[in-house]
Amino acid sequence: MGAAMVTVEIEATFERWQAAARALLSDGIAPEGVEWRERPGAPPAPRASKFFRVPPRFLELARQAAIAGDPGRWAALYDVLWRIVNERRDLLEDRAHPKVRRLHGLAAQGRREAERAEQQDVLRMEAEGGGAASFVPPGADLATLAAAAKRCQGCPLYRDATQTVFGRGPAQARVVLVGEQPGDQEDLRDAPFVGPAGEILDRALTEVHLDRATLYVTNAVKHFKFVMRGKRRIHQTPRLSEIAACRAWVEAELAVIKPETLVCLGATAARALLGDEFRLMRDRGRVFATRWAPRTLATLHPSAVLRGEDDAAQERLYRMLVDDLRLAAVAV
Ligand code: SF4
Repeated sequence: MGAAMVTVEIEATFERWQAAARALLSDGIAPEGVEWRERPGAPPAPRASKFFRVPPRFLELARQAAIAGDPGRWAALYDVLWRIVNERRDLLEDRAHPKVRRLHGLAAQGRREAERAEQQDVLRMEAEGGGAASFVPPGADLATLAAAAKRCQGCPLYRDATQTVFGRGPAQARVVLVGEQPGDQEDLRDAPFVGPAGEILDRALTEVHLDRATLYVTNAVKHFKFVMRGKRRIHQTPRLSEIAACRAWVEAELAVIKPETLVCLGATAARALLGDEFRLMRDRGRVFATRWAPRTLATLHPSAVLRGEDDAAQERLYRMLVDDLRLAAVAV
């Protein structure tokens, strides 16, 4: 007689699946013996007795796949997880493996569905007249804009962050750098790029002989977005609707400064100012004219350097950042 099936009921979120999968792995229950069911209000799985380390890439794909509407995704995810833990840790490198292909297919579907949901959020926000626009005083100088931004409630991010972190630098700056959003340190200290990513940026600016005191540095989104993990605040990428909601502030900053050179640091800033078609790794380091500045370019966000897998990868990413910033420095 075959082993009895275990029925696992979960709320349809990545975190609930992850908790249940850990418990099943701890108990040594193979994927063939599990039936997954979604049930709103299902209690979380009990804490697993063992800890499993899996490649970060698997977690990234699993988070994306979890968003897909396919009811078979939980079983497919557990199948791959089981194989990684019990059979082949490098399974994901075998892109032709049918289970890996299915995982990638689900992740792509999840990304598409998330994108569609975000587009709808943007449309809803615009239809309801939301966003920062109504908080931006027309024709104001930078100091007035910064003061007005302190009161912005154009999207939900103001609720959890400590404060609005507005741009810093002289109104006469010829180069403007736009990052993504304040991080933990920036949120606490009310200044852009003063945390670990700021240290990378400062090092790169020094290398290309750009004096930060002469630049205007800001972010596409002015409030820190995070989730709590224990006592730590972990950065979350802003949603499309939040980027769109906040765009009126960066537009107002650029309208006052009228820079010669605009540098978007990272995909969020590029998306906010250069549109959805812009692909950072494909288009970085290319200089072109936009309505913001005659010389506009995009490069990596300095935090991407910190996320490099090892020293060699971090050095390679840092060199890309420096090479691109050098293009901004030639105009100064
Ligand atoms: S993130 Fe931007 S739009 Fe949202 S509340 Fe903050 S300043 Fe306003």
